[in-house]
Amino acid sequence: MRIVMKFGGTSVGDGIRILNAAKLVTQAVEKGSEVVVVASAMSKVTDQLLEIAKKMLTAKERLQLVRKFIDQLKDRHEKAVFDAIKNESIKQIILNEQNQLLQELERALIGIAYLRELTPRSLDYVTSFGERLSVPILAGAIQDLGVKAKALTGFEAGIITNSNFGKAVPIMSKTKEKVKASLESLFKQKVLPVVTGFIGADEQGNTTTLGRGGSDYSAAIIGACLGVDEILIWTDVDGVMTCDPKVVPEAKTIPVMSYIEAMELAYFGAKVIYPKTIEPAMEAKIPVRVKNTFNPTHEGTLIVHELAKTDSVVKAISLIENAALINIAGISMIGTPTIAARVFETLAREDINVIMVSQGSSEANISFAVEGTQVEQAVKALSKELALGGNFVRGINYDKNVAVIAVVGAGMRGTPGVAAKVFSAVAKKGVNILMIAQGSSEVNISFVTTKEQSRLAAEALHKEFQLER
Ligand code: ADP
Ligand code: ASP
Ligand code: MG
Repeated sequence: MRIVMKFGGTSVGDGIRILNAAKLVTQAVEKGSEVVVVASAMSKVTDQLLEIAKKMLTAKERLQLVRKFIDQLKDRHEKAVFDAIKNESIKQIILNEQNQLLQELERALIGIAYLRELTPRSLDYVTSFGERLSVPILAGAIQDLGVKAKALTGFEAGIITNSNFGKAVPIMSKTKEKVKASLESLFKQKVLPVVTGFIGADEQGNTTTLGRGGSDYSAAIIGACLGVDEILIWTDVDGVMTCDPKVVPEAKTIPVMSYIEAMELAYFGAKVIYPKTIEPAMEAKIPVRVKNTFNPTHEGTLIVHELAKTDSVVKAISLIENAALINIAGISMIGTPTIAARVFETLAREDINVIMVSQGSSEANISFAVEGTQVEQAVKALSKELALGGNFVRGINYDKNVAVIAVVGAGMRGTPGVAAKVFSAVAKKGVNILMIAQGSSEVNISFVTTKEQSRLAAEALHKEFQLER
């Protein structure tokens, strides 16, 4: 059996966690599996890299700030090496590599400080250091346990993307060829590849990143290229659950679910899987399993193609707490058809992800929800676009204080009364609904509330559909 095992940030958060991950890998090898490992940066490191890069544009005493940051990063990664690896020569090799990487990072940050310029390309270069620093430690720990292993960047493993920095998409034909060539040759030599998640490179060789949380996607891309038997996502909870356990503590593991259900949940905010992860797995019909490194004997969740018939109509509730609602009001009848098209073309051009849409039957309004972080950019672009065409629109307003909630389950298809149950449960709690949409796949019903009321709504729905049982 050949599998991809992906470890998230918490699962490689310190030396002890890294050693634990290495043991899970070597146990799979001992059972006869051929394994490719994909790993994230140590927890919080990507956030810290983003933050320091941005500070280089504005902060005072930037050079001291860089020095302090590099020292802290060095301490944390050095400590992890000491805690995860016993063998002196392996330790030394990795510490040397770390020093080189940290020097490279320090120079890059100083460059940004002097130039006072931070392009999406340089930001990707800076954020790539999180995984580039963590992955060699994990490879060293695996090696220390007696399994030959080699650390590779996503680019070295063969992930070639477009040049959409910050949200790059793999060019699958090229990637497939390269990933196969690089990883099959390691398999032949009985060397286990340990690959950085999150990062690839464009065709010019510039470092790119796949989007925040994108290490899951890296694992699925590699899995699909190699046609593995399973993609195993190791995280910090017992699989995909009926709701984020940080929101609803009674949430339970969902033992089996379909690709479509997982996709909908991820898309509507279940951070446990990065939304794009399912697509390559589904195309190659590879099962995805999600398990907990803190509780590895728990079965977790298995995500597969089609489900045997299930009794449960609703499987899970998801929540995007940081959303925004944009309303384009007073669209004149003359302008309507072209305006709707122009609105969505503009958003697509700006690479803004529209979470859900609703249009009143009078066609005088269009409302849609976007990620909270993208709302200003969206409104700016739309104001510019719609002002160009004369007086077709009265105004564009937006509300950043909203959340999107989705109720997901394949059993909803063709089951009457689910929507009524959803909205009466929420109404009973006095939750005000700002917008409603139902996916055409009928696997979800989603709606918008205020941020303050969203957790109350999620809890009420979790209870209503008895998901804690
Ligand atoms: P990793 O670093 O392993 O990729 P993430 O933090 O990206 O982990 O994702 C795991 C987190 O996702 C969990 O700690 C949990 O709080 C959150 N989460 C959100 N929705 C769900 C859900 N439906 N099931 C499980 N976890 C969820
Ligand atoms: N380290 C990256 C991030 O924090 C990718 C990941 O963890 O999946 O976004
Ligand atoms: Mg994640």
